Amino acid sequence: MSCLFCRIVAEEIPADLVYSDEQVIAFRDINPQAPTHILLIPREHIPTVNDITDEQSPLVGHMVVVAKKIAKKLGFDDQGYRLVFNCNEHGGQEVYHLHLHLLGGRPMQWPPG
Ligand code: AMP
Ligand code: ZN
Repeated sequence: MSCLFCRIVAEEIPADLVYSDEQVIAFRDINPQAPTHILLIPREHIPTVNDITDEQSPLVGHMVVVAKKIAKKLGFDDQGYRLVFNCNEHGGQEVYHLHLHLLGGRPMQWPPG
């Protein structure tokens, strides 16, 4: 299995897990870009946003709902946070297993780089 995040799902590579259920897991980014930087990933391998099927819409919705619950649990939901999917080269995607970045704990800039 060559996909890094599939290996984290399979527990072949350790990660600092903050949430897990039958559909998704969430863990702390190894190179955090904010005081809290968490990645939410489906257990199922989906390479990019471009590969999400209509049938997988509930799964992606679940990722967003889990993200907002984590933000609430960590106490920065009211102050706010950013959710990001990077897609392909121009989006800055480096790991080709779908992931939702949850960034919180500081004000974010706009526009992004
Ligand atoms: P992206 O550029 O959207 O593909 O984001 C990939 C993210 O995965 C980056 O923020 C990396 O810091 C993060 N990352 C890479 N390897 C690991 C790892 N082993 N554990 C946690 N996060 C990782
Ligand atoms: Zn994968």
